Amino acid sequence: MARVYNFNAGPAALPLPVLEKAQSELLDIMGSGMSVMEMSHRSKEFKEIIVSAEAGVRKLMGVSDDYAVLFLQGGASLQFAMIPMNLRRPGKSADYVDTGSWASKAIKEAKIADGACNVVWSGKEESYMRAPKPEELKLNPDAEYVHICSNETIGGIRYPVFPKTSAPLIADMSSEIMSRVIDVNQFGMIYAGAQKNIGPSGLALVIIRKDLIERTPDSVPIIMRYSTHAENGSLYNTPNTWGIYIVKLITDWVASIGGISAMQKINEEKAGKLYSLIDSSDFWKSPTDKSSRSIMNVVWRLPSEELEEKFVSEAKKAGMIGLKGHRSVGGIRASIYNAVPMEAIDALISFMKSFEAANG
Ligand SMILES: *Cc1c(COP(=O)(O)O)cnc(C)c1O
Repeated sequence: MARVYNFNAGPAALPLPVLEKAQSELLDIMGSGMSVMEMSHRSKEFKEIIVSAEAGVRKLMGVSDDYAVLFLQGGASLQFAMIPMNLRRPGKSADYVDTGSWASKAIKEAKIADGACNVVWSGKEESYMRAPKPEELKLNPDAEYVHICSNETIGGIRYPVFPKTSAPLIADMSSEIMSRVIDVNQFGMIYAGAQKNIGPSGLALVIIRKDLIERTPDSVPIIMRYSTHAENGSLYNTPNTWGIYIVKLITDWVASIGGISAMQKINEEKAGKLYSLIDSSDFWKSPTDKSSRSIMNVVWRLPSEELEEKFVSEAKKAGMIGLKGHRSVGGIRASIYNAVPMEAIDALISFMKSFEAANG
């Protein structure tokens, strides 16, 4: 068996100890004589797993009892639709910040649902190279909420600081959840598709202030209401039991590293190594503004598309996969989520140095 250096954007690398633990429990978990995928979601064993996954999230992120922690299906994309349905009451408006591909997708859904969607800032004219400064946002006093994407997975930018808003701030943190310390109390809601930092695809983690759960208009289908899932402890219907189990193992793993602040330090060091190499030579070009560079998704360009293609294919031969930039923007992207070890970064850096020496 040979594991690659995995720079995939999502689904992405998972921590090796988590995969090994899941493997060791695959045929018989907790003495049940079954795998987690074969047992009732209402069994005492699974109850223990989901309670422990929620407790792990709460402890690591410092989530108070004012918030519900939900494990939903449909990925982060379903949240793009559920948020306006539930949280923007009829006839009201919501503010959206457009920082790139994912923020734009959320805006598209908000424009379809009943109610007004104000795009209060857009980075489009600047090719989405940065997040807005808080003072650039002209927020509407009567907006029901303000929606941001805290880390743009494709563009490789993030908010260095989050805006202070009077309306509840809602953040799509899919590609950076648990990668840096945040103050949950600054947000009305945080959500994330699991497959970047905390588990497999098909599962979304939602952390939502309990008072917001009450907002939902009666016209919203039962399955689409946050209240339904909150009242049923994410067990209204059969949840992604395997996914929730992996989230539990990942929270244990992050805790074993020293929690999110320790994780953040490692992540900053990993990203710092890559950015300093990119900035050290004209051979590599960063399209992002230094103020907003992501520490999860590092994007850069080479002098030509031919060289970029060559870079990706030679990297693959050297055991490094997932480095091709998203098809919408091209270039190179290294997604260096929590589970990507320093060893992978060091291997990439030494590959880049020899590639530059041969082609620069
Ligand atoms: C991947 C991603 C999504 C989409 O997640 P799905 O689970 O595929 O719906 C949404 N937002 C961001 C920031 C992402 O990185």
